[in-house]
Amino acid sequence: MENSTALRTWLDDFKLDHPLVIAGPCSAETEQQVLKIAHELKDSDVSIYRAGIWKPRTRPGGFEGVGAIGLKWLQKAKAETGLLMATEVANATHVKLALEHDIDVLWIGARTTVNPFAVQEIADALAGTDKIVLVKNPVNPDLALWLGGVERLYNAGIKKLGVIHRGFSTYEKTKYRNIPEWQLVIELQNKFPDLPLICDPSHITGKRDMIQEVSQQALDLNYDGLIIETHTDPDNAWSDAAQQVTPTTLKHIFEALRVRKETGQDDGYNRKMAALRVNIDEFDKKIIDALGKRMKVSEQIGQVKKEFNVAVLQNKRWNEILDKMKAEGKEQGLNEEFIINIFKAIHQESITHQEKVINK
Ligand code: PEP
Ligand code: MN
Repeated sequence: MENSTALRTWLDDFKLDHPLVIAGPCSAETEQQVLKIAHELKDSDVSIYRAGIWKPRTRPGGFEGVGAIGLKWLQKAKAETGLLMATEVANATHVKLALEHDIDVLWIGARTTVNPFAVQEIADALAGTDKIVLVKNPVNPDLALWLGGVERLYNAGIKKLGVIHRGFSTYEKTKYRNIPEWQLVIELQNKFPDLPLICDPSHITGKRDMIQEVSQQALDLNYDGLIIETHTDPDNAWSDAAQQVTPTTLKHIFEALRVRKETGQDDGYNRKMAALRVNIDEFDKKIIDALGKRMKVSEQIGQVKKEFNVAVLQNKRWNEILDKMKAEGKEQGLNEEFIINIFKAIHQESITHQEKVINK
């Protein structure tokens, strides 16, 4: 697949003076719910209505979607509101049913993008149609796998393509439901600047009060659009309740967002700086996370020293650490004095944490 402005023709055709907005519930629940939310979103910045009909759940027993009946509700919502309709497809049967019900936009979920067989099956089922297809990133941070999914569709003749950044799974607990790993998406953006890029702050954050912040970060990085889960009764939603916002909140989020106009000259500067700053912020956060975790280990060491009645300060061990870090630092091009200063400070903080445990 080559980068070309043709990739974004479908998006330009919306003729928007703001980022593309896709909104609607995580899942279609009832006909009434689908219609009510669609009507509340009708006269807003929203262009495309989303609702999951088939829901991939991490574990069996969760709400797995209403199935094909929901497609009829979406058709009705489209007839009544004029909004384009979007739903998730995970296999050829889903595609066939979605096409039969005139769904406008199909998205491939994170759990499907990881599977080239499934993506190929979807691509084959879509060949010859002119649907808009959006590929969510795979659950694991693998750019090649994500692009591979887009390419399978492209090679099947689907040209109205876009990608959705919904964050990545991690074993470690973070403040995100799925960590953004912005730098990976920036890499994709640099390779394919014309491939429409949409942020899904709902699945990145998992929490409605973080949607605004992550949406702003995406816009600062020149994303082309946002997909935000919206429900008239979020707390009682049948799936992803914690991350859905009401249509009114959605409106407030948009009012507060700074949408930067793309102004030729300084655009390169702003975009580059925004990307680099996101990178720096992420590293700073990782440094603090690592320091916090290191101190927890120090406390465990303190506990063991207490048990065995050993002194906190072990000079030999400390000098070994320092020598090792000076060597590692040198490899990274870091000044020796800088390393000594940092590790003295870390060591001091460690001793404080150990003493806290020992004197308890
Ligand atoms: C969704 O959009 O509701 C969904 C299931 O998303 P993801 O594939 O990103 O988990
Ligand atoms: Mn969801």
